[in-house]
Amino acid sequence: MKAIAVFPKSREVRLVEEAEPRLSTPTQARLRMLDVGVCGTDREICAFEYGTPPSGSDHLVIGHESLAQVESVGSGVTRVRPGDLVVPMVRRPCPHEHCAACRRDRQDFCFTGDFTERGIKQANGYMTELVVEEEKWLVPVPRGLRDVAVLVEPLTIAEKALLQLWEVQERLPWECPHRPGRRHGHCRRALVLGAGPVGLLGAMALAANDFETIVYAREETPNPKAVLAEAIGATYVSSKAVPPDQLAARFGAIDVVYEAAGASRVAFETMQALGANSVFIFTGVPGRKAPVELDTDLLMRNLVLRNQIVFGTVNAGRDAFEGAIRDVGIFLERWPDAVRGLISGRHPASDYRELLLGRPTGIKHVIAFAGGG
Ligand code: BGC
Repeated sequence: MKAIAVFPKSREVRLVEEAEPRLSTPTQARLRMLDVGVCGTDREICAFEYGTPPSGSDHLVIGHESLAQVESVGSGVTRVRPGDLVVPMVRRPCPHEHCAACRRDRQDFCFTGDFTERGIKQANGYMTELVVEEEKWLVPVPRGLRDVAVLVEPLTIAEKALLQLWEVQERLPWECPHRPGRRHGHCRRALVLGAGPVGLLGAMALAANDFETIVYAREETPNPKAVLAEAIGATYVSSKAVPPDQLAARFGAIDVVYEAAGASRVAFETMQALGANSVFIFTGVPGRKAPVELDTDLLMRNLVLRNQIVFGTVNAGRDAFEGAIRDVGIFLERWPDAVRGLISGRHPASDYRELLLGRPTGIKHVIAFAGGG
């Protein structure tokens, strides 16, 4: 079977022929991969800046955003059946007894760093035709989401962030007054940094919770990402038109920043503009560039005098995957064209070079391994 793999030693990215995986425990399922998303992490792995092959192997099969169809199951599998659609989770726990997070199935909060991630760190991923996985790491998907469920994994980043946001803000009276038909965020303003797939999916999650949502990105208007942001009721603002220090003056106090751009300078400049009791959430992983100068006194004064919180979040637990599947369904009902518009193209595996090594274009490109579904 075909697989897309990186060979870090020889610095190659290749379409390889791998042996078909077989069930080896009764609790495993064999999956036929339908759609696999291409993301910034995959591109970094293909540039040899990130990613590690399984121990003893010279290559790593990449791909971690996926939708699959169950092909066969072991005798101990109880929750999925052949034909079902599933999204497999990405991270697997570390082996250490003392890691409280991994021992409680919260490997997204692993303490030791010895977790593995399929398609990223020491475990082969999903850019291939068949995968065997323990049932425990599969999240069932309703058939109606066949076309868009490849967006579930990138949406889990926002889902995990929002779960934490609600918990963190229980530290103060932050709740909006009850308004029939309005969701929890209706009295709050959120700024999304970046208009890539993680940013736009985060904007959808915030807008669906009735936050007043501003998508802040480099590109000037008009552009397709701005059209998409506006289609979900968000406001698109180019950083070329409004610099970060003018955001609050222009739009009012910002309660939440959801950073999804991986650009540290603009992130910290925006942080300086935050108001009282606000939360700044980092999800991007910047490349290492030259240090930037920052007014650290101002940042620290604001953090203290305005009760601000800054947190970073990576990967996601089952709760975020289930939330993402529910919410993709909600988004699809509410904004069908915008959700479908996030997928810029479906391509055969043979297009991998252009998609992984070429200039990034569009929003989310998907490699379709099989017609199935
Ligand atoms: C993936 C996460 C992963 C992270 C770091 C992201 O692209 O969505 O699942 O934890 O990269 O490896």
